[in-house]
Amino acid sequence: MQDATDMTTNTDRIDARDIAQEVAQEASASQSAPLVDLHTLTHGQLLALIAELGQPKFRAKQIEEWIWEKNAQSFDDMTNLPKALRAQLASRCTLGGATEIARQVSEDGSRKYLLRFPDGVSVECVGMPSGPKLAVCISSQAGCPMGCAFCATGASGFNRNLSAGEIYEQVMHVRDDFDSRVTSVVLMGQGEPFMNYDNALTAMRKLNSPDGAGIGARHITVSTCGVIPMIRRFSKEPEQFTLAVSLHSAVQKTRNLLMPGVKKYSLLHLYEVMGEYVDRTGRRPTYEYALIKGVNDSDEELASLCDFCRDNLAHVNIIKLNDVKGSKFKPASDARALDFVRELGKVGVEATIRNSRGQDIDAACGQLRQNVLNG
Ligand code: SAH
Ligand code: SF4
Repeated sequence: MQDATDMTTNTDRIDARDIAQEVAQEASASQSAPLVDLHTLTHGQLLALIAELGQPKFRAKQIEEWIWEKNAQSFDDMTNLPKALRAQLASRCTLGGATEIARQVSEDGSRKYLLRFPDGVSVECVGMPSGPKLAVCISSQAGCPMGCAFCATGASGFNRNLSAGEIYEQVMHVRDDFDSRVTSVVLMGQGEPFMNYDNALTAMRKLNSPDGAGIGARHITVSTCGVIPMIRRFSKEPEQFTLAVSLHSAVQKTRNLLMPGVKKYSLLHLYEVMGEYVDRTGRRPTYEYALIKGVNDSDEELASLCDFCRDNLAHVNIIKLNDVKGSKFKPASDARALDFVRELGKVGVEATIRNSRGQDIDAACGQLRQNVLNG
């Protein structure tokens, strides 16, 4: 009996020591382990975390609703989770969390935001309301590695890729600021989405998903400067996302000068891959063409543009070049833009002049960031 009691006491002592040790280990692990942004976990990883915390499976769904649909900014907002679970989550995870560090509001109602992520990297996004509609323009990278000669983002170099959560989060920030449903999204802010393909596509899928922002795939547009292997890959994706290609010239020499980052992909190759894209998807791509005085606005350039587009399904967006501080490039005249639209129309190519939103605040893509950073 005595022995038995002793044994029990010993076991208790050992158990207590083990538990104390485990707790200490866990505490030190949670002190040293970096906190994980919940947005970066797959559904499977979240389920594993929930199981590890001894919680039933349905908690994962609740958490996902909070982070993706409701854009919760704090674990305390998650009122249908037990307090203890909220505390456990807060000790191991973060909600990402972009902070707005600057904004500009246009006369036409557009709002341009500069958001900063926890590591100090900042990007821009824009909300453009129009009646009941709200279009949002987001960034896919901080900076851009492609170095287009007319682009403020290209001029300021490349910082890093954004995660899918960081791309997605920009839309939710704008949605919550306008307190309005987002009806369309364009990945036309900073960065080249096809140089960050997986994260951009994951974000687009979440934007499209009923468990996310629930925006129709056709209303989600990705714009690329023409990264050919990724255009090919994109054409095989099952969703009906919209594709825009920044063309800016259908003359190889001019395009090389304007867009050195895609020099290795010839226009002929781009033409072929876009033909494949149309055959495969049946969808009409948009070509972006920023008209630059004395560079890509000549009759020869116009004829080449007509040739590039005439037998392909295409929509051409003629963009008025935004002035970039210190740049030698100047916008072509409005009359010249109308010439382009008319001549494209004559060969059966639909073209529009992009209705520039927030011009007073949108002097150039990347400028708000520069203004703020340069004080
Ligand atoms: N990297 C992608 C998407 C972001 S750029 C791309 O290049 O397509 C979004 C659009 O803005 C592109 O069509 C780009 O060519 C255009 N752009 C960049 N700088 C501009 C400027 N100064 N004026 C007008 N459009 C510009
Ligand atoms: Fe990058 Fe697009 Fe700017 Fe070119 S135009 S530098 S690809 S963001």
